[in-house]
Amino acid sequence: MLRKILVFGAALFIFISCGKKSPQAPEDREKTITILYTNDEHGWMLAGENHSGTDGLMALWRQQEGFSENGPFLVLSGGDMWTGPAISTWFQGESMANVMNAMQYDAAAIGNHEFDFKVEGLKARVAQSSFPFLSANIREKSNGQIPNFIQPYTIVDVDSVAVGVIGLTTTSTPYSTFPTNVADFDFIPYETALEEIIPQVKTAGAEILIVLGHICEPEMRQLMPFAAANGISLIAGGHCRNLVGEIINAVGLMKTSAYLEFYGKAVLTYDMGKKQVKNIQIDILPNQSTVSDAEISAIVGFWQNQMDAALAEVIGYTENGIARESAAMQNMVMDSWLQTFPAAAAALSNAGGIRQSIPVGEITLETMVGLLPFENQIIEIEMNGAEMQQWAGNFIHAGLRGGNPFIFADSSAIIDNQIYPVLTTDYLYARDDRPFQYLDPAPYFTAVHYRQPVIDWIKSLNTSSGNPLENYLDAVGRK
Ligand SMILES: [Zn+2]
Repeated sequence: MLRKILVFGAALFIFISCGKKSPQAPEDREKTITILYTNDEHGWMLAGENHSGTDGLMALWRQQEGFSENGPFLVLSGGDMWTGPAISTWFQGESMANVMNAMQYDAAAIGNHEFDFKVEGLKARVAQSSFPFLSANIREKSNGQIPNFIQPYTIVDVDSVAVGVIGLTTTSTPYSTFPTNVADFDFIPYETALEEIIPQVKTAGAEILIVLGHICEPEMRQLMPFAAANGISLIAGGHCRNLVGEIINAVGLMKTSAYLEFYGKAVLTYDMGKKQVKNIQIDILPNQSTVSDAEISAIVGFWQNQMDAALAEVIGYTENGIARESAAMQNMVMDSWLQTFPAAAAALSNAGGIRQSIPVGEITLETMVGLLPFENQIIEIEMNGAEMQQWAGNFIHAGLRGGNPFIFADSSAIIDNQIYPVLTTDYLYARDDRPFQYLDPAPYFTAVHYRQPVIDWIKSLNTSSGNPLENYLDAVGRK
């Protein structure tokens, strides 16, 4: 079989040579492949404060980069494609996959947030997408195999060059998505996975190797010697928020921040004769566009209409807006839980569960979904006063104040050996690097979504421009 291919290749070469009047110049044997790259899109198909959204990005790619469907381009994502604004979260990523299909993505790494809507949710997105979801380092705990809905790699024909793209998923995934969603999987070390998969990719004919990793910069750098020794030309990353664009020992490192604020562009010059990448150039460019791609704009508009219909309900009014990390925001969310479950002594949660600010004016359900986008529910656990003292400082909270030591909001003392009911999320409980599951092996699952109490509380106040939410907020920090 191999011999036949070689013979055919030789025949083809002769045919092409005969067709030319002069011998091939060296540059004819070179191909230029442009990789357009995003990571941690988190559902930001709409424009935001610092970026132009997907319709602007597609227009930039077409006009500034000369992108065309059949041109020498490879469009890749480093994963975490959804969970963010309501337009992606409400539809469990379906809307974002729809947009990325239209943007001609060729492959995406599986990020931790790809599991946010459980394995069934991820399988639905894999089935819907016209591009493969890649990860070489996820294994079924039961049998050590790569799960059947995941591809470790893909080979894309770009202008007749076979580009092998190998996926990696952050080994922090058991803590950075809902832990039980990935309880059936091991996330094995990156190099172990690559050592296993690279020979397969080469055997399958890949001429250029790219690692598409949902991994942070330190992990990308740790892989550099391995990459240089194994013929990997580019490591694309994600998960963390800093920008990386660098070439070290002929291996490129590329990573944007998040939310489609930037895109990465790697231009590879491939020498067809020597069968090697001769040059790499990397740029990280802002997604700042004054133009819009009509096709993408129409798809985003469709989902906007779907969302508006579902989430247009106005639940309140804020005069000044509420900043994401403000005490007013944290207190409001946490106090609403205690209001819903008044028998609890306190509530403890992570600030990272609150994902965006509430803008000035009418507050809609849409804003609330983007604010608290995760599929987390409130649970009640028991802990004693000493444990509460120990852990309260690590979390945002309600029902407590002070800090050295904490006391209850009504000024009564926390008694060290007394057992108290405390609210938190099933997400934090499921994380085994957090204390809660060790403090109480039998929590009470309320089945109330962590977003619902704050929606109920804001609605109950009947706020308006004449009686804004600010009249009811507690803006005093509790650390
Ligand atoms: Zn991530």
